[in-house]
Amino acid sequence: MAEKTVPLDKDALEKLAERYPTPFYLYDERAIRENARRVQKAFSRFPGYKEHFAVKALPNPYILKILAEEGFGADCSSLPELLLSDMAGIKGGELMFTSNETPSAEYRKAKELGAVINLDDISHIGFLENAAGIPELVSCRYNPGPLKEGNAIIGSPEEAKYGFTRDQLFEGYAMLREKGARRFGLHTMVASNELSPAYHIQTARILFELALEILDKTSVRLEFINLGGGLGIPYRPEQREVSWENLAEGIKQVYDELIAGTPLYPLSIHTEYGRPITGPYGWLVARAVHHKNIYRTYIGLDACMADLMRPALYNAYHHITVSGRENEMASETYDVVGSLCENNDKFAVQRKLPKITTGEKTGDLVIIHDAGAHGRAMGFNYNGKLRCGELLLRTDGSVVRIRRAETADDYFATLDLRGLENF
Ligand SMILES: *Cc1c(COP(=O)(O)O)cnc(C)c1O
Repeated sequence: MAEKTVPLDKDALEKLAERYPTPFYLYDERAIRENARRVQKAFSRFPGYKEHFAVKALPNPYILKILAEEGFGADCSSLPELLLSDMAGIKGGELMFTSNETPSAEYRKAKELGAVINLDDISHIGFLENAAGIPELVSCRYNPGPLKEGNAIIGSPEEAKYGFTRDQLFEGYAMLREKGARRFGLHTMVASNELSPAYHIQTARILFELALEILDKTSVRLEFINLGGGLGIPYRPEQREVSWENLAEGIKQVYDELIAGTPLYPLSIHTEYGRPITGPYGWLVARAVHHKNIYRTYIGLDACMADLMRPALYNAYHHITVSGRENEMASETYDVVGSLCENNDKFAVQRKLPKITTGEKTGDLVIIHDAGAHGRAMGFNYNGKLRCGELLLRTDGSVVRIRRAETADDYFATLDLRGLENF
């Protein structure tokens, strides 16, 4: 069972809402740090372990700085993500650049920052050479195709756009060496939100076997394997979180079986977890403003899918609690919705919840759980919706704003209005 709690009670949240009107994201620094330490401890079983936090999950430099203090690097997929990581003090080889369909300017910036470039396709070897030159250390992304079953968000690897085929990898590493690369890594990322440890352990096995085959066929001796991200979190209270210890121990057994005692030892292990690093430690806090009774009963929040798109995009479950009513009976059945003009703007459909009071000032605070990854980050401005801000609960109990809410001026900022009057 995954317990669904919030680090601040109703009084504290109401106080916060006076200073920073709802909706807002709230992140818990202490919980993020404690979790990061569990990751580091579990994976310290491996030589040269490095977690490159997937910036796309929570692209805020304050969060990146906290994670960097805990020893994490960053995994970036775009120029702005590289710049954000740089701002947070994450430098050189701490940066992994896993992009696809990459423009040459981004390769140039990645190389200039000393990021480890992870190529998505064999054709990008020549492209990178022209754009920025082949770096000394380079990585390739593997797509296992039919060797690996897929999962709901990424789909089956055979249909996924990412990575090299097996045969292309052998050819690719040989080409890279010929063009001057001297140090090599291997990467894959085949699933998303996958809660089965066995799935991730099997992925590691495929990669370890492949690393040995690459050594055999090309004499390229890989120095790291990046297992990617894709580890799930228990969005539903009845699901169980994956224990970092069990996961790392499972991978270590395969490592000992296949890698220890071979010329590949001490092969480093890297990861790019995003969701399980910050996901459970972020909440979207909104106020219940409207109550509507037609064929169903609707609770209208001041947040909408522009703030958190996962329910609309993936039909994803996010647990909801009502601040101060945690122990009340779930006597009502509601659709909890936002204000966007799309009928899939629903945080919950036919959800059993306690009776909710509504009102612009007096309504209940509704907490949407597990919003700390792929939450605010996926926000958008469709329908003129302005995205909410982000607050950080510090370890000393204070709260700092780490991103303000958008204003209409932000929304208009990209319009060139100088010509409008005489248009
Ligand atoms: C999204 C992504 C990650 C992180 O995935 P999570 O599910 O957030 O852990 C890591 N690596 C790559 C290449 C990704 O695209």
